[in-house]
Amino acid sequence: MFIVDSHCHLDALDYENLHQNMDDVIAKAKARGVQHLLTIGVTLSRFEKQRDALAHHDAVSLACGVHPLDLDDEPYDQQRLLELARHKKVIAIGEIGLDYYYSADNKALQQDIFASQIQVANQLDKPVIIHTRAAGDDTIQLLRDNQAQKCGGVIHCFTETMAFAKQALDLDFYISCSGIVTFKNAEEIRDVIRYVPADRLLVETDSPYLAPVPYRGKQNQPAYTREVCEYVASLKGMTVAEFAQQSTENFERLFKIQVQ
Ligand SMILES: [Zn+2]
Repeated sequence: MFIVDSHCHLDALDYENLHQNMDDVIAKAKARGVQHLLTIGVTLSRFEKQRDALAHHDAVSLACGVHPLDLDDEPYDQQRLLELARHKKVIAIGEIGLDYYYSADNKALQQDIFASQIQVANQLDKPVIIHTRAAGDDTIQLLRDNQAQKCGGVIHCFTETMAFAKQALDLDFYISCSGIVTFKNAEEIRDVIRYVPADRLLVETDSPYLAPVPYRGKQNQPAYTREVCEYVASLKGMTVAEFAQQSTENFERLFKIQVQ
């Protein structure tokens, strides 16, 4: 079995109590068939630390970008992003996007920085990884206005509506499922996942957040992509092996990388 965790934050796991180090996390994931990980940047400084820590790991790819809730950490610098994101282990610009749920007072700033990062993605021809919360219409609008269908991308940790999913699919975007899809009250999300073609789906943990059932409430880790994969396979009427293969191929197609 070859499963890919298309979205984790390896630098945010608990290395005091749960894991010895990143090698330990990667080994636990591989033991469950989760053989490739994409770890996400939320600020450029945190990206640089992950890049240096993971330089020798072929099983891990990197995304570089500034998260809409981390804009205060350091001044946004498009040129620095452009230079850092050229690194050959960087396969995506992300995560980037809009979050009006936790941060409603700086919408214009979020939009400017989001647009700027889509432009970098187009310039480098690397796909975008999108975070969107309580901002669906503006997210779609900015993706359209900045020609994000050129670089392509994925709506990570999908929690939006069917209408949003259809608009994202029209932009040739992919949809990524996190452990949320296993939650009891997630019936609307399950309907969307049943609707999205199997060749447009990715799976992720978003660890350390959002552990799937039966680990809900515990800290999430890449190994648990296995549970998300099993659950989505059942929604799609596929075996786990079939859906693992399909979603891995989707990952390879979107990010223009060979991982198997
Ligand atoms: Zn994330």
